[in-house]
Amino acid sequence: MSSSPSIAVIGGGPMGLAVAYELCLQGFRPVLLEADDRLGGMAASFDFAGVQLERYYHFHCLSDRAFFQLLQELNLQDSLRWKQTRMGFFLDGRLYPWGTAAAVLGFRRLPLATRLRYLLHAARCLTIRDWHHLDGLSATTWLKRWLGEQGYRVLWENLFAYKFYHHSDSLSAAWIWSRIRRIGQSRRGLKETLGYLEGGSQRWIETLAAEIRRRGGTIRLHSPVSRLGGSDGAGGVVLSTPAGEERFDTAISTVPLPLVAPMLVAGGADAALVRPFEAQLSVACACVVIQTRQPITPNFWTNVNDERFRIPGIIEMSNLQPLQPHITYVPFYMPADHPDYGRPSAAFIDDSIACLKAINPSLQDGDIVAAHCSRYRHAQPVCGLHFLGSLPPLQPLPNLWIADTTVYYPEDRGISESVQFGRTLAREVAGRLR
Ligand SMILES: Cc1cc2nc3c(=O)[nH]c(=O)nc-3n(C[C@H](O)[C@H](O)[C@H](O)COP(=O)(O)OP(=O)(O)OC[C@H]3O[C@@H](n4cnc5c(N)ncnc54)[C@H](O)[C@@H]3O)c2cc1C
Repeated sequence: MSSSPSIAVIGGGPMGLAVAYELCLQGFRPVLLEADDRLGGMAASFDFAGVQLERYYHFHCLSDRAFFQLLQELNLQDSLRWKQTRMGFFLDGRLYPWGTAAAVLGFRRLPLATRLRYLLHAARCLTIRDWHHLDGLSATTWLKRWLGEQGYRVLWENLFAYKFYHHSDSLSAAWIWSRIRRIGQSRRGLKETLGYLEGGSQRWIETLAAEIRRRGGTIRLHSPVSRLGGSDGAGGVVLSTPAGEERFDTAISTVPLPLVAPMLVAGGADAALVRPFEAQLSVACACVVIQTRQPITPNFWTNVNDERFRIPGIIEMSNLQPLQPHITYVPFYMPADHPDYGRPSAAFIDDSIACLKAINPSLQDGDIVAAHCSRYRHAQPVCGLHFLGSLPPLQPLPNLWIADTTVYYPEDRGISESVQFGRTLAREVAGRLR
C-alpha cells in the first residue's frame, strides 16, 4: 500500500501499541516511535535477578473485556489465569482482614454504624450508572458523607495523602467511584477474583509488537519525540526525534499529556492550544519490588495506614501469581516535584523493608533476596474537580490526535482501558483517512 497515508504513533505503551495494531488491521503501515529502550510504558518489564518482571504491579479484573478480546486475537487467551484473592488492612501496627463483608463487619476499630455505612457505600458504587453528578464533587466530601469523619480518617485519609499529597482534597468523586466499582465488580460468588497473564504483560506486549511488524508496521525504540506541529502548506504533521525531522500525513500521540505540552511549544503551537495540556497534573511513582524467602501476609493487597510509613499499601504479587521467591511491590506515589522523589533508590528500599517487617515481624534481613526501585514520572493523572471540562481537545490540529490515560475518565488508568480507547481511536482515524 505505497500510496497509503503515512501515520506516526507516538508512545509504545499499551495504548500506542493498540493504536498501531488496529491501524495495521485497517490496512495502514504505521511507524511507532517509543522514547524508551523497550515497549510497554507503565506495563514494561525488566530483568529482576534473572526473572522478567513488570516494573509496576499489574492485575486484571473480570470487566477487562477489551484486554480479553486482544488476548483472543493474539491467541493468548488460554494463558489468562484467575484467582480468588484476599485483602488486608494494616492499621497502627495491626493487620486486619479486609475486602469482604464479613471482614468489614468484624473491623472493630470503627463503630458498627460506620462499618455498615461502608458496606452500603460499596454497594451503592455498583449501582451508579450516570456518574456526571460526581465529576464536580470532591472525593473527600463524598466519602465523608457516606462514612462520616472518623470512617474517612481511618479508611481513606492516608491512602489519599500518601498518593496525592496536596492534591488529596481536590480529587473528583467520579474517579474514586470508578476505582471502587472496578474492584467491587471483579467478584465471582461475592469473592474477589483477580487475573494475571502467565509470563506477565511482557508476553502480550511482545506478541502484539511481533504482530504489528508482521503486518507491515515499524517500531522504533530510543526515539523520543521532542517537537510536534503542523507542517506549513504541505498539510500533515512534522515531528522531531534524535534521528531528525520527519513529516507524516497524520500523527497520534499516546504519551502522558503533560509531556506533550513542550513538544507542541517546540512545534510553534499557540499558547492557548498548549495551555490545557500544561494544566494536566499527575503524580510520580517510585515503586520498590522485593524478593523474599517468605510471604509477608496471605493477602494480594494490603492497605497501609501507619504514621511511620508514607506507603498507601503493599501488593504481594506472589499471592496472585505463582512467582518464587515471593514478590512484593511497595509503591511510593508523590508529586514529582516533592523533594522525596529525588531520594536514592536505597532509601525507598530501606523504608519498604522496614514496612514489611512491621507488617510481618518474623521477617529477617536474611529473608530478603533482592530489591529494586523503578520510577515513572507520570504514573497517575490527578483527576481533579470538573475534570471532564479540563481535558484538552482530542484533535487539536487537523491531522494530529492526542490521547493519554485521562481520555477515558472517570475510568482509572488501566491496560484494558488504554487498549480499548487506542483501538477505537485508530478505527476513527482510519475511517477519516479513507
Ligand atoms: C504502579 C502502577 C500500577 C498499575 N497497576 C495496574 C493494574 O494493576 N492493572 C491495570 O490494568 N493497569 C495498571 N496500571 C496502569 C497501566 O500500566 C496503564 O494504564 C497503561 O500502561 C497505560 O498505557 P498507555 O499506553 O496509555 O500509557 P503509558 O504506559 O504511560 O505509555 C506511554 C508511552 O509513551 C512513551 N513516551 C513518553 N514520552 C515520549 C516521547 N517524547 N516520545 C515517544 N514516546 C514517549 C513512554 O516511554 C511510554 O512507553 C498501573 C500503573 C502503575 C504506574
